[in-house]
Amino acid sequence: TSVTVLAGGVGGARLAHGFALAASSPSENELALTCVVNVGDDTERHGLHVSPDLDTVMYTLAGLNDEERGWGLTGESYATLAQLERLGEDTWFTLGDKDLATHVVRTARLRAGEPLSTVTARLAAALGIDARLLPVTDDRVRTLVSTPSGTLAFQEYFVRRQHADAVLGLTFEGVDAAGPAPGVLDAVSDAALLVVAPSNPFLSVEPVLAVPGVREALRSSRARRVAVSPIVGGRAIKGPAAQILETLGHDVSALGVARLYTGLVDVMVIDTADAALAAPIEDLGFEVLVTDTIMGGPAGRERLARELLRP
Ligand code: GDP
Ligand code: CA
Repeated sequence: TSVTVLAGGVGGARLAHGFALAASSPSENELALTCVVNVGDDTERHGLHVSPDLDTVMYTLAGLNDEERGWGLTGESYATLAQLERLGEDTWFTLGDKDLATHVVRTARLRAGEPLSTVTARLAAALGIDARLLPVTDDRVRTLVSTPSGTLAFQEYFVRRQHADAVLGLTFEGVDAAGPAPGVLDAVSDAALLVVAPSNPFLSVEPVLAVPGVREALRSSRARRVAVSPIVGGRAIKGPAAQILETLGHDVSALGVARLYTGLVDVMVIDTADAALAAPIEDLGFEVLVTDTIMGGPAGRERLARELLRP
């Protein structure tokens, strides 16, 4: 079975990890996993190209993610960041010593002319990852957040100001001129199972779909198309998804998320806490799967992935 997951950071990484764990068992040894990942969060720090969502998925699939914090590598140290600060650099964006190695290698290869997709494939292979990891585009796309205090670069909004500003709108700078990275459209069109991860619909999923060709490929895909709600019991498990739904005038619920995905997926997966929303979501034309969608450890992730594989 070919499975393609459209992913942002943590929510996408957790579910992708579930599929990867399932794929490593004898019963699922035919499972080929592709992750198509948002690059709108990418940023330059200290002259280095940082791809936070790609790295979260990559580190999680490699079993190297810091699970307590949700991002970065386990067993990190911060000597380089401390020295950068001493040298007068702005260090509000935390980068661990080992993590920096990823950004050094990525930046060097990009400067040597390799596209991001090639660099990503090489990094993933070096970390022993079996899944195919694709940035949605090799082109430069940057999420800009419009707030009452003006337009902010994504990491300025998310990390520096800790997503405290109301989000009035989002733009994905460069997206109109961008094209899907090699393999992306086929991964969306030809998958047996296409999963929109429980990632932030506005900050993670939309900048993937906004790359020309991707939304159309999803609309016309032959895959069984499934989306997992990132909103459980009216709240986001982490991050500003609930706040953004509210400010942009949507229902802060799995129903509000389902409305965003109308026409794009066939099945909405919602948490048992939201069982009462199954009927109204079905009324929108979705098939609804009600299950435990909170992916704590590896066992919960694999369980959810297997449930999506066996409808
Ligand atoms: P980011 O790039 O790291 O902010 O991550 P994503 O956009 O991929 O994921 C953030 C979203 O994932 C939030 O809206 C969370 O509610 C959701 N999320 C994180 N973990 C889980 C989980 O275990 N289950 C579900 N259903 N949603 C989750
Ligand atoms: Ca992200």
